[in-house]
Amino acid sequence: MHKTAVIGHPVKHSKSPLIHNYWFKKHGIDGEYTAIDIHPDNLKQGVDDIIEKGYRGFNITIPHKETIMNLCDDIDDTARVIGAVNTVRIDDGKLTGFNTDGFGFLENIRRGIAGYNFTNKNVVLIGAGGASRAIIHGLKSENVAGITIVNRTFEKAEKLAAEFDVDAVPWQKRNDVLAQCRLLVNATSLGMTGQPNLDINITHLPLHAVVNDIVYAPLMTPLLKQARQNKHPFVTGIGMLLYQAAQAFNIWFDVMPDVTDELQQKILDS
Ligand code: NAP
Repeated sequence: MHKTAVIGHPVKHSKSPLIHNYWFKKHGIDGEYTAIDIHPDNLKQGVDDIIEKGYRGFNITIPHKETIMNLCDDIDDTARVIGAVNTVRIDDGKLTGFNTDGFGFLENIRRGIAGYNFTNKNVVLIGAGGASRAIIHGLKSENVAGITIVNRTFEKAEKLAAEFDVDAVPWQKRNDVLAQCRLLVNATSLGMTGQPNLDINITHLPLHAVVNDIVYAPLMTPLLKQARQNKHPFVTGIGMLLYQAAQAFNIWFDVMPDVTDELQQKILDS
């Protein structure tokens, strides 16, 4: 039996067990994926336990995505540049760290808009948190024309922009940068159930510009509803979760699993 898990604190809410256990069944792999709550003070002990029990690997969620890097024997280039690891593979007790969030983001848009090509697109990215780092890294690998970060805390946007050699504009200017935008991404928690809405006016966004929200609860966020109403092509956030998981599964088992409508529905219903 191949053992895998997600570690975090808290971790009860994670959809990852549902996703990976679905794929074990679907692909006829004798495996099990569980959620393991590890307090930050016990990270090393918790990971040592996992190694000792012979796990194939594990995913990492809040608050361990950065600290897990100290326990990895090797870290792939993508995770190193992003500065966070969300997937670990264990080979003979040695830990290799990966980050699959950027892949999840790109693949979601490619699948959501058939034939989508990022090359030469101007991107406006709202948010400068952990998800934004992975998204910027992914977008830069696709030769986009430019990335403009807009964030409530401007200093964070500026710092990120300097690190990745992209642009940053203050929060108050978020509507002004949309006229040149071809891909608009919300990577803040705004619009999530229980959170305030993202206050943005997309009237000047060109009609063919794609709108993506990485928030997926609700699936149709207020931003995406606005996009639908204004007839923009749009992509929901659920696929980013599924494709980042798919790449992790592939890292562990060399199998790229199917992201099916049935699986998507199971997550939305859970
Ligand atoms: P994070 O590191 O905590 O960053 C949060 C971001 O949201 C920051 O840019 C923050 O701005 C902004 N924000 C929060 N409250 C705000 C408010 N009231 N007004 C304006 N901006 C606000 O979180 P993260 O890991 O990047 O994740 C961001 C969101 O993406 C979360 O909702 C998460 O669930 C979702 N997500 C989805 C996927 C997926 O697979 N679909 C993957 C990763 C994350 P400040 O810098 O000003 O605080």
